[in-house]
Amino acid sequence: MSTLSEALIAITTHPPQRREGDRDALTRMIAVLLEEAGVSDVAGAIDAIHDASLTGARAIADASTIDFLNVLRSSAPRIPPRVAATIKHLGQWVADFEDGQAERLDEPGRSTQSLRDGLASIKGVGRRTADALVLHALARPAFPLDRGTYRILVRHGWLDVTADYDEAHDLVVHAAGGSPDALAAAEQTFTDVARRHCRVQAPRCAGCPLEPFLPEGGALEIDG
Ligand code: SF4
Repeated sequence: MSTLSEALIAITTHPPQRREGDRDALTRMIAVLLEEAGVSDVAGAIDAIHDASLTGARAIADASTIDFLNVLRSSAPRIPPRVAATIKHLGQWVADFEDGQAERLDEPGRSTQSLRDGLASIKGVGRRTADALVLHALARPAFPLDRGTYRILVRHGWLDVTADYDEAHDLVVHAAGGSPDALAAAEQTFTDVARRHCRVQAPRCAGCPLEPFLPEGGALEIDG
């Protein structure tokens, strides 16, 4: 049976988009939260936050949720209130645990696991979004595992159906050699494959980029 590492090397050919390096860590994390919420004009929303002088963790934490929501809605009219609340919780977390200095999250000596755990403890974030922040905003080896990727891993026999989030996460990070670029590319590929081929009801393996990596006998059943 092909390994997950072999499949990743073969199918992840497109270079991932890199987050702008001139943005500070807090702005990069806010951008990821906005992208996760489906905001199309992330740059416009970031500009609106900065134009309102909400540029630091404490300023964001101290703003009222309704005021902050209105700032976001000036460029993203349909953004739900929970996104504004989550960004404020992020600001509060940076203010409380990083002395308001988000740039400390970029320090090379910080442990990736402690960053994952800390960000996952923020109200409204959770493990998957925390891993998106760690990977895309902090350029650390983490993998934001979603249900589509989980289906692919199980159907190929790379992951047991009883595996928990962290087991699946660690499997992908290890298979990608701990490279943030490879992990970002893998996320892009898995998301696309799950949407176009590896549907919930039944996999459409014919023509799928991962078809050459199926186990003998084809895709495994997901009964869990
Ligand atoms: S559709 Fe088939 S080949 Fe493609 S990822 Fe799913 S199980 Fe694998």
